[in-house]
Amino acid sequence: MSKNVCSFCGRSEKEVNLLITGLNGHICDNCVLQAYQIVQSSEQLNDKHGGTDAKPFSLKKVPKPKEIKKYLDQYIIGQDEAKRYLAVSVYNHYKRLQQPKDDDGVEIEKSNIIMVGSTGTGKTLLARTIAKLLDVPFTIVDATVFTEAGYVGEDVESILSRLLQVADFDVAAAERGIVFVDEIDKIARKSDNPSITRDVSGEGVQQGLLKLLEGTVVNVPPKGGRKHPDQDYIHVDTRNILFICGGAFDGIERKIAQRLNTHVVGYNSVQNVRKIDKGDLMKYILPQDLKSFGLIPEIIGRLPVLTYLNPLDREALRQILTEPKNSIIKQYVKLFKMDDIELDFSPEALDYMVDKAVEYKLGARGLRSIVEAVMMDTMFEIPSKRIKHFEVTLEYAQAQLDKAGLQQAS
Ligand code: ADP
Repeated sequence: MSKNVCSFCGRSEKEVNLLITGLNGHICDNCVLQAYQIVQSSEQLNDKHGGTDAKPFSLKKVPKPKEIKKYLDQYIIGQDEAKRYLAVSVYNHYKRLQQPKDDDGVEIEKSNIIMVGSTGTGKTLLARTIAKLLDVPFTIVDATVFTEAGYVGEDVESILSRLLQVADFDVAAAERGIVFVDEIDKIARKSDNPSITRDVSGEGVQQGLLKLLEGTVVNVPPKGGRKHPDQDYIHVDTRNILFICGGAFDGIERKIAQRLNTHVVGYNSVQNVRKIDKGDLMKYILPQDLKSFGLIPEIIGRLPVLTYLNPLDREALRQILTEPKNSIIKQYVKLFKMDDIELDFSPEALDYMVDKAVEYKLGARGLRSIVEAVMMDTMFEIPSKRIKHFEVTLEYAQAQLDKAGLQQAS
C-alpha cells in the first residue's frame, strides 16, 4: 500500500497538518509555506524595475480632478487652492503612468508638489486623505530624521524602504507610488553662507533628496536603516514616484513681505503697487521665497507645483469641529454611542472650545486636546452609569477646562 508522503520533505500524512495532492506527488503545508517565502524573497531580489510591469490600470477608473476635490471636501475644511493643485497633480500623475511609449517624443514629466502652510492647517490630512482615495502605495516620511550619508540618522533612501514595505515589496507598485515628505523646511540650509561647519542635516540631505526627486535607480536596503555592505539591495527606480512635500516654513511671510516691498520701490512703483493683503501674505508665495528660506534651487526646480494652505481662522476651526465626515465631535458621538449613550454639545459649548483653541494658537491640533480635556471625566464615569443621554453645556465645558488647568492661555 502506498503511503502518501510530502514529495519535498518526505513527511507522511500523519506528521503534517495538511497534505495537498498534485498530479505526480504531494506537498505538505510546511513546505508550501517555505516555498512561498522563497518565491517572495526571490521576487524582491529579481525585481524588474522600470514600473512598466505594474498591473495596467485604466485612466477611466481614476477619479477626475473635480471628483478628487469633492472627496477632499468631505474631510478637509477650506484650503481650496491646495485641494485643486493636489487634485490636478495627482490626476496628471496617473496620466503620466499611462502615457504611450511610442509617441512623438513628447514625454510628460512629473510634477512633484510642495505645500507651504503653518502647522495644523491640514497638510498631512490632505496627503493622507488623497492616498485613501487612490490605489497606489503611499507613505509619509519626516524629513527631520534624515542626515547626510555617514552621519547618525537615516539615509534619504530609507524613504523608499518604507514605500516598499507598504507596497508589500511589489517593486513595480512602489515605483508608481506617492511619498509625502513632511517638514521639508527643516532641511533648509541654516544660513545663506555655506560655512566651515558642516550642515549635515541641511544641504547634504537636500542633495540626497534631489536625486530621488529627479528620478534615479536607488539601491534600497529592504529593511530600511543604514546601508550595509553585506546586504542584498532592491533596485527602485524613482522616476515615476510622485513626491508631495509639506512644510510650515515659519517666518516665510517675512521673506515674502521683503520681496513684495523691494518690488514696489522704484520710479514707477505707484502704478505697480497691487493692493497687498498684509494679513494673508502666504498667497503671494513664489519659488524664490523658498530659496530665501534656504532650499537649494535644484530642489525647488524639482518641485514645480507650489501651493499654500491658509491659517485657520475661528470660523474654519468651528467648522472643523463638527463638519468633516470624520470630525472630532462625530468621533466622540460615536464613542458614546458604542455605550448606547446619546451625546450632544450645545452650540455655546462648541463656540467656547473654539475660542480656547484660537487663544492657544495651536490651530486645529489644539481642538482635539481641548475636547479631550472636556470629555475625560465623563468618559471615565459614564460607562458605569445608567445614563442614556449626556449634553455638554457651556458651563460644563468651562468647569472641565478649568479643572484640567487649560483655562489659561500661555
Ligand atoms: P499639518 O500637517 O499641516 O501640520 P495636520 O494635517 O496634521 O496638519 O492637521 C492636524 C489635525 O488637525 C488633523 O488631523 C485634523 O484633525 C485637523 N485639521 C487641520 N486642518 C484641517 C482642515 N483644513 N480641515 C479639517 N481638519 C483639519
